[in-house]
Amino acid sequence: MQLLPSGVVKIISNIPIIIVLATLIFSTPIAAYSQSFIVSNHHQQFPISQVVSFAKDKSKTTGVKGIEHKGTAKPSKGSHHLSSITPPLLPAGISTTTSGISSNGSNSKVVIINFDDSFKNQVLYAKPILDKYGFKATFFEVCGWIGKSSERKSWQDIAALQQDGMNIESHTMIHPHLNTLSPIELNSEIGGAKQCFLDHGINPTIFAYPYSEGWNNPAVVSTVARYYSLARTDTGFPVTFLHCDGWKTHPQTDCRTYSSDGKLTFANRYSIKSWTHRHIDGPYSSSQEGSVCAGVCHSYDNSQMLQVFIADVNSQLKFNQGGIIRAIPIVIYHNFVTYPDVSFSKDAADTTINLFDQEMKYLHDNGFRVLTMANLGFDTSTNSFYIK
Ligand SMILES: [Zn+2]
Repeated sequence: MQLLPSGVVKIISNIPIIIVLATLIFSTPIAAYSQSFIVSNHHQQFPISQVVSFAKDKSKTTGVKGIEHKGTAKPSKGSHHLSSITPPLLPAGISTTTSGISSNGSNSKVVIINFDDSFKNQVLYAKPILDKYGFKATFFEVCGWIGKSSERKSWQDIAALQQDGMNIESHTMIHPHLNTLSPIELNSEIGGAKQCFLDHGINPTIFAYPYSEGWNNPAVVSTVARYYSLARTDTGFPVTFLHCDGWKTHPQTDCRTYSSDGKLTFANRYSIKSWTHRHIDGPYSSSQEGSVCAGVCHSYDNSQMLQVFIADVNSQLKFNQGGIIRAIPIVIYHNFVTYPDVSFSKDAADTTINLFDQEMKYLHDNGFRVLTMANLGFDTSTNSFYIK
């Protein structure tokens, strides 16, 4: 029981920032806010969800530098303040308030929900909400953590999830920093996890990199490729492009793993991009995933975080026109807490139960199709993803 939760302290100390934030949120038409518009940030471009932190260096948090995507507004040079937000460039006829139903009636709004790190509270708190809205999700489990403490799931939990149609995939044996491992250790963490799940009747075909590290390391990727069909990482950008062709600073025409010079490509079947749901924005310690922000950080409360979520899941709209899906948001959740408001939590990757319910309700009420990672296929003849 905390008499004065840290989030309250943070709120008090950040009152000037919150006033600016509130001004932005409440003075901005929802149609504009729910779009992924871009601001300059240390010569990078990020969607609005990452913009509200304007004193950070995202490369420290994800190890990804210069991530941009096509079709965005140009940043104003040399500024990384809220005032530098520029309007989105919306394709003709596309409004952020559209239903996502194309003229031919097909639903072009999709989302994939992920849960990482085997927290028991995912089955206690998130699973009933998924059931309430009829959604299935992917759970990336750390095989060596299952059944090892009351904080983590048991094998019975995993079996029950799978029985209910949830998708169970692999997140290593003990969640190491893969870039620090020898080839033998890599094999043990990546291949060993595959065997660990097989020993419990589960055959994972998709891998997720702990701390989002290793997706750009040839030794790691070649080990992943021996055991899995696909792998997911986190870029902090909400969508993944089915043809890997949306990244301005990483121009690609398809999702081949290696370019003609033999180097790993930025986006490929072993580097599926996604977005970790974080309610604190800023520089994170690389020693933890989700983790505690160190430095100048900015906290969202439940209502602000809901707007960030809405903006992120709607950022696909400008890519998915005419009923054709080209981009899919993949949202990753970690730990669930019982605070009344997410700003009470110090850990950026924590989510409250009521916020998660609001977010799933938004998807449900707005006609989003919720898929799992297992719904993603990869066509080796065209080197592109497709929805099964
Ligand atoms: Zn993890």
